[in-house]
Amino acid sequence: MDYQKLAEMLFPQITKTPEDYEKMYPLRNLPEGAKVTRLGPSPTGFMHLGNLYGAFADERLAHQSGGVFYLRIEDTDDKRYVEGAVETIIHSLDFFGIHFDEGASMDGDKGAYGDYTQSHRGPIYQCFVKKLVSEGKAYPCFLTEEEIGKIREQQEAEKKTPGIYGAYAVCRNWTIEQIQEAIDAGKPYVIRLKSDGHPAEEGADGNMHGRRVCVKDAIRGTLDMPENFMDTVILKQTGIPTYHFAHVVDDHLMRTTHVVRGAEWLPSLPIHVELFDKLGFELPTYCHTAQLMKIGEDGNKRKLSKRKDPELSLDYYRSQGYHPAAVREYLLTILNSNYEEWRMANPDADIDEFAFTTEKMSNSGALFDLNKLNDVSKDTLLRIPATELAEWLHSWSQEFAPEYEYVFRDMDLLTQILDLGREDRKPRKDLIYARQIMTFIGYFFDESFEIEDEYPEEAAADRKNILQAYLDSYDHNDDQENWFNKIREIAVDQGYAAKPKDYKKNPEEYKGHVGHVSTVIRIALMGRSQSPDVWMIQQIMGENKVRARIEAELNR
Ligand code: GLU
Repeated sequence: MDYQKLAEMLFPQITKTPEDYEKMYPLRNLPEGAKVTRLGPSPTGFMHLGNLYGAFADERLAHQSGGVFYLRIEDTDDKRYVEGAVETIIHSLDFFGIHFDEGASMDGDKGAYGDYTQSHRGPIYQCFVKKLVSEGKAYPCFLTEEEIGKIREQQEAEKKTPGIYGAYAVCRNWTIEQIQEAIDAGKPYVIRLKSDGHPAEEGADGNMHGRRVCVKDAIRGTLDMPENFMDTVILKQTGIPTYHFAHVVDDHLMRTTHVVRGAEWLPSLPIHVELFDKLGFELPTYCHTAQLMKIGEDGNKRKLSKRKDPELSLDYYRSQGYHPAAVREYLLTILNSNYEEWRMANPDADIDEFAFTTEKMSNSGALFDLNKLNDVSKDTLLRIPATELAEWLHSWSQEFAPEYEYVFRDMDLLTQILDLGREDRKPRKDLIYARQIMTFIGYFFDESFEIEDEYPEEAAADRKNILQAYLDSYDHNDDQENWFNKIREIAVDQGYAAKPKDYKKNPEEYKGHVGHVSTVIRIALMGRSQSPDVWMIQQIMGENKVRARIEAELNR
């Protein structure tokens, strides 16, 4: 068979050669050891935690080594395309501080290795498919869906692996005349890889025997897998490649050194190895990341699910207002097993000083835990100055929760509120994420203030007497000590123990203790029985608001 002639027959419009593209996209001029990584999301409109998890690994590997991190839009599956999805991808990654050096961007492509959108690269893929056809390594296949279905039925009956390979690949050995005839008859066709592999066979020892491929994965170590033997589709009827072919051609021409992608691609790795080999390209370093898991309702590990777990979507973190630094900090704890130890030893170091490695990445399931994220977030927010946090909350609210506009009317006030209790020896860790913070500090604002908790049983009946006495003796200029001494006096006057331990010793002698009395005051002022230091809060609220709140409770 004259494969060259076949290639010309199938791709007359392709005049460029692979060498032309090799010249157009030369090896990158980067320092020794610099890594080139990419993120290749599909524009489905849904960005999930797995994307971000991989993106952090990509970003660190590239930027830690003086390399390049680029964005490629993988839209070869047009059924999944959602309008505006590219903007969503760029925006949501930007929110988490993931910035690309190169690739698709809001203002078009940046960089010399584009086009960075797969659907725009048809002629490039076709050029390399043409090369494979011209070397007898790929062929047109005219099997219809129906015929493929019949083959599958036959294979099921014979207990054979389903698929198009070996004797089932009926178009594999068609003559050029047969092909010409089918094309003239207008029959649609795909291009398939002509695989050199063979299915494993059962030997006399009862074991399966077959050739294997070994790949060194940077996360998983050596992978030893059965070789590919499928005549996999590389170019669809539309002239658009499948993921397999696009991956191989793009990562070669864009000079990717490290392919970080999800474990769901492991089963097709042997196909990719065969394609790299047939095209004469060097294999990149694969880094197959672990599946993100969580502990399910039944206490067992399970995969995060789009339907059940809102926290799988990146939108969740943005709309709840998790600070990107907190998410980043948390993701690093699940990305690298030695990160937490490093953070403990270097509490104030910039996160980018941590030496990220693929070897410390988990290869079983990476366990995702919202409670742990919340804990990490509390610590992270403590490290952000209150003025900066206030500004950040403001921009979050403008985008996601404009109903909290009143919180930002007085930015100095907000800064003081956010700073409450942070300087203590054991700093308060009340602040977790923006939506929670809005609720947590809600009592400062008349718009959101309400009495949420019950008055303590011990003092409920006396609450008006207590509040009246408090109002009468209130002096906004009292220091913390004087202020508390007055509360103690009120307590004693009303029949409460001055110290909790006196009450505990002789409960029959008192109605309660000073703590019950101060809780009455706390609830009147804040609506809650738990809060940061009352004296501090009063100083921030100002005298008028303190008096107004007590009066309102007296009149209720
Ligand atoms: N487009 C692929 C996906 O959405 C990317 C896989 C890869 O990074 O190679 O999963």
